[in-house]
Amino acid sequence: MALNCQHHVQWVRPIPGGLHQCILCQKVVGRGDVYPKLEDLPEEFRRRWDAHEARAEGAAATPPKAPGGDAR
Ligand SMILES: [Zn+2]
Repeated sequence: MALNCQHHVQWVRPIPGGLHQCILCQKVVGRGDVYPKLEDLPEEFRRRWDAHEARAEGAAATPPKAPGGDAR
């Protein structure tokens, strides 16, 4: 039944890496995969989605420092 999962936004939650996962079928979903479409959702939801993705992009651009101090 998970094959026909429509990834309703209520089941989608942010996961590490700026990705979103559907907790029902465990799939990583993009903004075009969810139902209803992000365009049809309140702006607040889109902002949260964008913010989560942006956070990951920022983390990728500036890798987190290794714990224990800078080697250089
Ligand atoms: Zn799903």
